Amino acid sequence: MTTILDGKLISEQIQAEILLDVNTLKAQGGKTPHLAAVLVGNDGASETYVAAKVKACEKAGFISSLVRLPETATEQELLAKIDELNKDTAIDGYIVQLPLPKHIHEHKIMEAISPQKDVDGFHPQNVGRMALNLPTYLPATPYGIMQLLERYKIDTAGKHCVVIGRSHIVGSPISILMARNAVPGNCTVTLCHSRTANLKEHTLKADILIVALGKSEFVTADMVKDGVVVIDVGITRIASDKTKSGFKLFGDVNYEEVAPKASFITPVPGGIGPMTIASLLINTLKASKKEVYN
Ligand code: NAD
Repeated sequence: MTTILDGKLISEQIQAEILLDVNTLKAQGGKTPHLAAVLVGNDGASETYVAAKVKACEKAGFISSLVRLPETATEQELLAKIDELNKDTAIDGYIVQLPLPKHIHEHKIMEAISPQKDVDGFHPQNVGRMALNLPTYLPATPYGIMQLLERYKIDTAGKHCVVIGRSHIVGSPISILMARNAVPGNCTVTLCHSRTANLKEHTLKADILIVALGKSEFVTADMVKDGVVVIDVGITRIASDKTKSGFKLFGDVNYEEVAPKASFITPVPGGIGPMTIASLLINTLKASKKEVYN
């Protein structure tokens, strides 16, 4: 039997839990968490993601601010805005939506964000703390995966976890988290990427397969063993005249083929996407309560 890992449902539960917590904080005269999002340019997918984050903040009782800069904004202008956000005591945490326009160096921007306010968990200091198993803001997508595994009580200890993709925001951090001496964690991890030889040999050995490469329906039934736990992170937007939005979303896994072989699987949409947003809210609440840095 296959169980669908319902990220939408779990993220709604998490948002409801956060709302309760925020209401208690407010009743005690505490601070209302405040998340800001910086959006440079008007990339369609980024607009959608930021809108979803702002909406989730409202549902969780947070204050949210959207800071918009034009596509033509210079690196200096963005750095000046970041300096402002770092100093603004009303804002607990903020994110700079990626990708940035090509003329802006992403790493320079990530390093300029105050680690205390880095609720996306991308600052090198927070990445280092994650690797050392110290209190930190875990990057939102890997954190969302961990929570989904935890809430569905999926046993990961001693399991072989294969990750496809080594990006700084998904593949690399999730490979570190799954190998940590923690729950979930304690996996033996194989990290695959574009230069991996004989990918299928690796994926066929996976008890848990985490896929984040950005190629729609890349993983097919012949690449997985029976009973595998499949986490599909991929989101590819493909134009469609059959939907109201004008596009359809595809994961990196061929769901129709793979689901019957899986013990657990995330759908796209409704899997890791909403969990990513829920994780961002948890990190912002932690920032507001000064739970990571005090
Ligand atoms: P990326 O483009 O930065 O990296 C892709 C990785 O896949 C690279 O490390 C590359 O080595 C690997 N790769 C490419 N082709 C491969 C192949 N043939 N075999 C093995 N490995 C290969 O990707 P990213 O930013 O991690 O995003 C991956 C996907 O996840 C995208 O579809 C993205 O939209 C999606 N995503 C979703 C969420 C969410 O909230 N659900 C968050 C972040 C990213």
